[in-house]
Amino acid sequence: MATVAFVGLGSNLAHPRRQIAQALAAIARMPQTRIVALSPNYATAPIACEGDQPDYVNAVVALRTSLAPRSLLRHLQSIERAQGRDRDAAAPRNAPRTLDLDLLLYGRRRIRLPQLTVPHPRMLERAFVLTPLLDIAPAITIPSRGLARRGWSAVRDQRIARTRSHALHRSGLPALTQPLRARPWI
Ligand code: ADP
Ligand code: MG
Repeated sequence: MATVAFVGLGSNLAHPRRQIAQALAAIARMPQTRIVALSPNYATAPIACEGDQPDYVNAVVALRTSLAPRSLLRHLQSIERAQGRDRDAAAPRNAPRTLDLDLLLYGRRRIRLPQLTVPHPRMLERAFVLTPLLDIAPAITIPSRGLARRGWSAVRDQRIARTRSHALHRSGLPALTQPLRARPWI
C-alpha cells in the first residue's frame, strides 16, 4: 500500500542548488515512488557546527511510495553516496556535506530502529525543515507531537530565505508545488 513520506534535502558544498536538483531527479527515478509535492529552495545558515561553513540550500519533497521505510532509507543513502557524500566516521555531526537526505515522516508511522528514527527527531528544531514542510503541507501533524505549524515560533529566529531553484528542478518538476492541504491522505 502506498504511503506519503516526506524527505528533507540539504547541501552546502559543490554547487548546492545543483546537488538538490540532481537528488530530486534521482528520487523521481526510485522504484515504486512518485514525487507529489516539492517546496521551494531555501538558503539557510548552518546551525550547531564548528568553524565557518557555507550556507545550506534546503528543500522538502513529498513522495507517494510503496517502498518500506528501511528500503526507502537505503535508496536515499545510495543517492547520497552517488553524489559524493563522504561518510567519514570521524567527521563531526553537521560537518559540511554535498548532500543530506533525511526521512522526516513516513505516513503516520513511528519507527525506532537502530538506523532509522521516524519522525526525524530533530525536524521540529530546524527552520530549514519546518518552513519548506509547511509550504507543501500546512496542516501536517507530526505523530506524537501535533500540528507542525505550532513548532514554527520556536525556530523563527533561525536565518532562512527563499532562494532560486536550479533550472533542472524547475523544468523537471513544474507541476508539483501545490499545497497538499486538500488531500485527505496527508
Ligand atoms: P543528520 O542528518 O542528523 O545531520 P546524518 O545524516 O549524518 O545526520 O546521520 C545519518 C545517520 O542517521 C544514518 O546512519 C541513518 O541511519 C541515521 N538515521 C536515523 N534516522 C534517520 C532518518 N529519519 N533519516 C535519515 N537518516 C536517519
Ligand atoms: Mg541525514
